[in-house]
Parts: sequence; structure tokens; C-alpha cells
Amino acid sequence: MTMQQRIEHIESSIAAACSRVGRDPRSVQVIAVTKYVGIPETEEVLAHGFKHIGENRWQDAKVKWELLGNQGEWHFIGHLQTNKVKDVMGKFAYIHSLDRMSLATELNKAAAKLGFVQRCFIQVNVSGEESKYGLAPEQLYDFVKQIGSLSHIRIEGLMTMAPFEGEPEDTRPVFGGLRELRDELNKRQILPYEISHLSMGMSNDYEVAIEEGATFVRLGSVLVKSAK
Ligand SMILES: *Cc1c(COP(=O)(O)O)cnc(C)c1O
Repeated sequence: MTMQQRIEHIESSIAAACSRVGRDPRSVQVIAVTKYVGIPETEEVLAHGFKHIGENRWQDAKVKWELLGNQGEWHFIGHLQTNKVKDVMGKFAYIHSLDRMSLATELNKAAAKLGFVQRCFIQVNVSGEESKYGLAPEQLYDFVKQIGSLSHIRIEGLMTMAPFEGEPEDTRPVFGGLRELRDELNKRQILPYEISHLSMGMSNDYEVAIEEGATFVRLGSVLVKSAK
């Protein structure tokens, strides 16, 4: 399959998932995850009109970002070590892996120094899988309370990764769980603003994630690799 064909497949799958639950397909944005590929494929993705580019490690993203970082908005979707904050600061419009206070403090300090507000997603480990990063759901409200006072980070939404399931339908409770956490956060008005975004769904399970309310899906292999 060519990239054009893969894109058409993704677009029709998104449209179908949206129509099953009465959503407007424009409410779902694709983050093109380019971590598996190099500069030429990343250029191809951008040329096809993708505005959101996702990378999970700065070491791998660096050469691509240095050449193409002025095109599109870049999303840091991987685990972020506190001592790596300086590498990604000012380069990524969104950081999807805020999951602890030490990282929030560091991001806030670095953003303050550069004079901007870093947009972040809080990563929640909804499934409870030990191998997954993210806050436990029961820690979320206290965490949000604590970071509410950090004026150089803004919470755009919540992010989660579902376990890989042979049957994508089995991921539904994880995605539904993240949506409920977002709704509860808004209801409790812990932050002075509403958060709307849910970053959830990958190649294997994005259709289920969309049915459960995903506003950003992070697609790698289904977009940039012909296998799968
Ligand atoms: C790699 C990665 C993705 C994309 O995974 P695919 O299954 O290839 O679509 C999405 N989110 C995160 C955090 C990733 O690391």
C-alpha cells in the first residue's frame, strides 16, 4: 500500500467510527507518529497535510525536528526523564507524558525561563498494567490540584495507552475510563478551566478510542509502515 492508500483507509475508518457514535470527524485529529521512520517519510507525512507529528524519544526525533520542526506542531508522546526536559523544551507544542510532580515542576521552571506556557497532557495508567507509565487514576485529582498553581504549564487533556489486545474491543473500558476521569475533573472544577482533549488510541485500537471520545489518536504503524 502507498501512503496515500493508507491515509484513505485511516480516514474512512475514522469517519465510520465517528458515524457509529454520532461524532463529527473533524473533532478527531491524527498525530502522525514518525518514530519508526526517517526524514524522507516524515517529509512525506507533512506533504500529505498532517499537522501533528508525534515522537517518543528525543534522540530519535532530533535529526527530523532540526530539519522539519518548523513545519506542523510536534508532540512529545514518550516517557520524559526530568533531566531531558531541557532537550525538548521549546520544541514540542504538546507533551503527552506528564505523570509526576517532579516533572511538572521542571517543565514549569523551564517554560518560565523561556517565557511561554507548555501545553501538556497528563498520562494516566488506566489499565493498571505494571509496564505502563502514568499516574494511577486515584492519584489524578490530587495531582491536578498540586499542579494547578504552576502558571507555565497548561493541561490540555488526558492521555493513556491501552494494553495491546488481540481483540481491540477489549480496550474499550480503558478508553471509557479515561473519558470518565476527564469528565469528573471538569465536574469537580479542580482547574480554573475545562479540559477537553483525550489523547488515546493507536494503530491497533484507534477506532474503539474514537467511539469512546478520543480527540487525538496517535498513529504510527498503520500510517507509515506498509505492514499491518
Ligand atoms: C509508538 C507510539 C504510538 C504509535 O503506535 P502504533 O501502534 O505504531 O500506532 C502511539 N503512542 C505512543 C505513546 C507511542 O510510543
